[in-house]
Amino acid sequence: MISNLTVLGSTGSIGIQSLDVARMHGLKINALTSNVRTDVLENQIREFSPRFAAVADEDRAKDLKIRVADTGTEILSGPGGVEFCASLPADTVLNSIVGIAGLVPTAAAIDAGNRLALANKETLVAGGDYITNLAKEKGVSILPVDSEHSAIFQSLQGCRDKKQVKKLILTASGGPFFGKTREELKTVTLENALNHPSWSMGAKITIDSATMMNKGLEIIEAARLFDMKSRDIDVVVHRQSVIHSLVMYSDNSVIAQLGVPDMRIPIQYALTYPDRFESPVRELDLAEYANLTFERPDNETFRCMDYCREALDRGGLATAAVNAANEKANELFRNGKIGFTDIFRSVEASLGCGYDKDNFDINDVLETDREVRARTEALWKN
Ligand code: MG
Repeated sequence: MISNLTVLGSTGSIGIQSLDVARMHGLKINALTSNVRTDVLENQIREFSPRFAAVADEDRAKDLKIRVADTGTEILSGPGGVEFCASLPADTVLNSIVGIAGLVPTAAAIDAGNRLALANKETLVAGGDYITNLAKEKGVSILPVDSEHSAIFQSLQGCRDKKQVKKLILTASGGPFFGKTREELKTVTLENALNHPSWSMGAKITIDSATMMNKGLEIIEAARLFDMKSRDIDVVVHRQSVIHSLVMYSDNSVIAQLGVPDMRIPIQYALTYPDRFESPVRELDLAEYANLTFERPDNETFRCMDYCREALDRGGLATAAVNAANEKANELFRNGKIGFTDIFRSVEASLGCGYDKDNFDINDVLETDREVRARTEALWKN
């Protein structure tokens, strides 16, 4: 078990649940970071007494500095402050920042040789080989926090030879709109989209779940984490979110990981791997579930999964492009500027941008992100 932890994005849904786990096991907190939620961060600082805390928003950082002047925590500001916290020596850095903003802090944590518990899937989607190669070079392990990837990681324990893995099977809840037609999706509202059937999550990922872009991003994330091709990663819709994902081996034996839908199990496993301890999550009682159901996803209606597969097959910066288009379109939809199915069209449009060149660095990723966001915004002007 690790003894100390840094949490990046500590005031979001995953960050708060990570601190639940840290509290239960008495982990020392080195540093905490937040984008804007300084009220929550102040309480966390008072409870966990980290040496440093960083707020990405400069004005809010100034305000927080005054409010916690009576504590021993030093307040840093801006993206540089977050990056500094990521690079402090830690047993594990848990990155639960939302979106591309998590990329540079991930790279900083790896560069410093810190073990990484990764909830920021955009890091692997946009950063791709750059991040996985950097981790290899520095000898840093990346432990998945995303529930599906944690399930696969757990189902791979005991696998002696990767050649014996035939395919990965990601489960998808299907989100609030599973079963709807493309026509019906044109008129859904933000309120409908935020109403997720089984998981309680932040707004960005809840919308990604409704479009099923989240599953597309997770196909890319799985390919990068476990070094698999897109054709060897299947998706099955499983509405109850009890089976979190599965691995099929060469003899067609399938190993799965199950549990009640609560992120604190995958969070804790990333912190305690390879060991297991008591967790704050209740026991799974399978008899509570009269039926577990499995269906094929509707790729015709929810097209983002295929766009993500296409980007993955193209390689290079194509996955950074689909991620950027989605992040921008997701934000435009949440701000009432575009309709729900316009998110699909935004992601599709980014595939035609010609970003499939190899050999890139982190600046190319950030440049692609900026360009594609601008293009996506321009697509919906007027
Ligand atoms: Mg997930």
